[in-house]
Amino acid sequence: MLADRIRNLPPYLFDEIDRRIEEKKKEGVDIITFGVGDPDLPTPRHIIEACCEAAKKPENHRYPSYTGLLSFRKAVAKRYELDYGIELDPETEIIVSLGSKESIHNIHFAFIDPGDIVLYTNPGYPVYRTGPLFAGGKAYPMPLIKENRFLPDLDSIPSEKARNAKLMWINYPNNPTAAVADREFYKAVVDFATENEIIVCSDEAYSSIAFDGYKPPSFLEIEGAKDVGVVFNSLSKTYNMTGWRIGYVVGNSEIIDGLRKVKTNVDSGTSQIIQEAGIAALMSSQECVKENIRIYQERRNILVEGLRSMGFDCETPKATFYVWLEVPEGDSIEFTKMLLDECGVVCTPGIGFGEYGEGYVRFALTQPVERINEAIERMDKVLKGA
Ligand SMILES: *Cc1c(COP(=O)(O)O)cnc(C)c1O
Repeated sequence: MLADRIRNLPPYLFDEIDRRIEEKKKEGVDIITFGVGDPDLPTPRHIIEACCEAAKKPENHRYPSYTGLLSFRKAVAKRYELDYGIELDPETEIIVSLGSKESIHNIHFAFIDPGDIVLYTNPGYPVYRTGPLFAGGKAYPMPLIKENRFLPDLDSIPSEKARNAKLMWINYPNNPTAAVADREFYKAVVDFATENEIIVCSDEAYSSIAFDGYKPPSFLEIEGAKDVGVVFNSLSKTYNMTGWRIGYVVGNSEIIDGLRKVKTNVDSGTSQIIQEAGIAALMSSQECVKENIRIYQERRNILVEGLRSMGFDCETPKATFYVWLEVPEGDSIEFTKMLLDECGVVCTPGIGFGEYGEGYVRFALTQPVERINEAIERMDKVLKGA
């Protein structure tokens, strides 16, 4: 009964693990989960207050515009000017989205015809792979491996694939590997995309979560980037707003216009109440973002040190709230099950992010310090000398 596009989706690999987690919970096991990439910290107070005020205004009870409030788009433009020195035209170069996920999916419907190739980073956010499939395109993986610092090797993409590619996903700081990209890499992407006439989609959802003073560059900082691409960003991770569903796409106006054409046919925009809260988030003091970073950094240090003391060869991530850990036997699902069964600790098997994620597991730093310490203690008893 199901359409091919649903039947052909990559298999959901966590069925058995999810079942086991539920069983353990029923048995009364105290589970510590590092599984989901969803901040445990609440949305800052001033953003919630702006939302409450916005909810009182009758004009916000009606359909919003498709592209978003001009005042929201101006706030995004201001943020890019302040953070990166990038100039954006709020009228044509910015569109609001229902969280990034929606526009990451929808952009394929604007630009992908049946058979068109979409290059995507693997392991990666699953929508880079399912979006093309829904639109009838072909997703072609760019492997992220340790030897290349988890950056795609553009030279190894077969020229016939490169020529036939219409769109390309990159995502730095990266989920799930926590890798970061430098300007050199972005320059190479601009050249590659220009030469092969590829639309670059740079997902920068973790742009503001970086440690030890490091500041991730944006793809749009590179000369020529705006001619070939757009950046997807979101308030989800920066301001602990995953449940609010607000994000935006910025950059090339023709690409933005293509996305707008799809969206006018699919959804009716982002609630103005949420957009007004978004303006408060973008335009108020960014002290709350610094506080987030401080919290994640402390958690990162504790988890990484703990894993190292058990004998793991674990890199210290420069950004994102993930730790990407190479597992001893290389089987990420077996390792995840073992950790759950013997320690009551949940992580995500790397293979769930694509075949090149095999051999790794991901820990999300979305637990308080006490719980991280507890998890390390439990793991240490079982894994010492791994
Ligand atoms: C969390 C995340 C997003 C943003 O999701 P929203 O839909 O904006 O909540 C986008 N890309 C990646 C890689 C993510 O991890």
